[in-house]
Amino acid sequence: MLELQIKDLCVGYNGKEILHNISLDIENGSFIAIVGPSGAGKSTLLKQINRLDPGKTGGSILWRGKDVDDYDVHELRRNLAYVFQKAVMFNGTTEENIKLSLKYGHEFKPDEIEALYQTVLEEASISQDILDTPAQDLSGGQQQRVAIARALAMQPEVLLFDEPTSALDPQMVGEVLDVMRRLAEEGLTMIVVTHEMAFARDV
Ligand code: ADP
Repeated sequence: MLELQIKDLCVGYNGKEILHNISLDIENGSFIAIVGPSGAGKSTLLKQINRLDPGKTGGSILWRGKDVDDYDVHELRRNLAYVFQKAVMFNGTTEENIKLSLKYGHEFKPDEIEALYQTVLEEASISQDILDTPAQDLSGGQQQRVAIARALAMQPEVLLFDEPTSALDPQMVGEVLDVMRRLAEEGLTMIVVTHEMAFARDV
């Protein structure tokens, strides 16, 4: 099944064209790496997909056959979840940070919340011993995995990653890439802006 279809997308600012006639079909379950030099427009392309970038001058992006502009924006962003370069942690523990997403846009019963919570902890490799730690005290790699857990808690159809490891210390990059690799193997549709060429080639 075709998950996303980018058709002749053009983006520009102040008369300067950033993206020119980009077209791309993305099948359900595929892993797409977007690579290229800084300033090429990779983040701009990713942000266009869930309407975080206002610069579209032409073309369209369809998710499941319907223009992304025609979705309720919350529904769109819950289903096409975005993981930023730098994870933003809210005040509160790791557990509170993750459970916030479980309540967003869903009407789960308490036992369903708990079950889904345990699932995303496992999927994002978050160990039990950091659940009571203030999320702002976690390492960069742990925070990024919390951000991935929060994204997964929304049960998205597509995960969009915008250079998720480029702000991390080198020793933390591997733990985040391992989580992403496993998610890709499980068949989640993923679009990843990355400079990790070995990872991109491999996955
Ligand atoms: P990449 O992710 O490939 O490094 P970006 O998509 O972040 O590149 O940016 C591509 C170009 O678009 C850059 O020159 C950037 O300055 C420009 N750009 C992105 N967003 C805006 C904006 N909101 N206003 C003006 N220029 C922008």
